[in-house]
Amino acid sequence: MRKTLLLAFACLPVFAFAQADSQNQSTAPKPVVGHDGTEYLSVPHGPPMLGISWARGFEPNASSNRPSPLARRSANMTYHGGKIMPYTVSKTIFWGTSWGSYTGDKITGMDTWYTGFNNSNYAGTTDEYTGTNGQVTKTLTHQGHVIDTTAAAGGGNTAAILAEVCKVITTPDASGNGYYAVYTDLPRGSAGYCAWHSAGSCGGKAVQFAFFWKLDGDAGCDPADTSGLHSQGLAAIANVSGHELSEARSDPATPGAWYDASGAENGDKCAWTFGAPLVTFSNGSQWKIQGEWSNAAFTAGTGYANSSGQKGCLSGL
Ligand SMILES: [Zn+2]
Repeated sequence: MRKTLLLAFACLPVFAFAQADSQNQSTAPKPVVGHDGTEYLSVPHGPPMLGISWARGFEPNASSNRPSPLARRSANMTYHGGKIMPYTVSKTIFWGTSWGSYTGDKITGMDTWYTGFNNSNYAGTTDEYTGTNGQVTKTLTHQGHVIDTTAAAGGGNTAAILAEVCKVITTPDASGNGYYAVYTDLPRGSAGYCAWHSAGSCGGKAVQFAFFWKLDGDAGCDPADTSGLHSQGLAAIANVSGHELSEARSDPATPGAWYDASGAENGDKCAWTFGAPLVTFSNGSQWKIQGEWSNAAFTAGTGYANSSGQKGCLSGL
């Protein structure tokens, strides 16, 4: 989700800084309610949150939300002149004091997730999109994970998360196709979203990055994976990881590439809908993961229906 989200959701305090940053630099910082309920002044200098995985009930495409007249006229996304990610070089960052003694399945599980994403049919759900620098492909090279056991903070602040990425990733991918996913041990609290992605630069190198709350026991961000293959917390971050990575690949940066008349990116348009109980990745790992919007599938009538009944979602089977 991008752009018009900033207007539609300006009443949500956590987005006030993003609006100030992208639309009006002179707007005074507004109080933001942090995940722990404390108020702080936002710093209006971070890059915009380009894509947000809304918690259930907050999603702009929920059937309870009326579609805008433009969205009703055409469900498909349009091209906005920018770059896509022709391929991805991923690395995960597990940030927070608790990761130092962590013995669960999230760190190894997400390495398996990114490794299996490469050349998967799920990755292929985004391959139709083109930009000034070519076309999205299924290629992803995963460089593993880094654990930073300093205290995580700043989930509502893109500048804070970018600073963490630049601290930990000392040599970002030189092509600008580095995607750095920051998994924190911070619970979501009252924030309306599960994750987001954005773009920036580290030492002059363009980077893509994403932020994830700890989603253990968080019903609003839970795909309800009953397979027994993963812990609930891993299943939850895996699902929203598909949403954010797909959006970064099809709409990575200003001025933007692919999103619809409501500002919804391909992950937003199929959020919290699942075309299959489990999707198998190229390494055989299986995940309950949301589908991604395909203009081609919608036009051909071959996708499954999103929460607005529009049949443009591909499950990646
Ligand atoms: Zn999104």
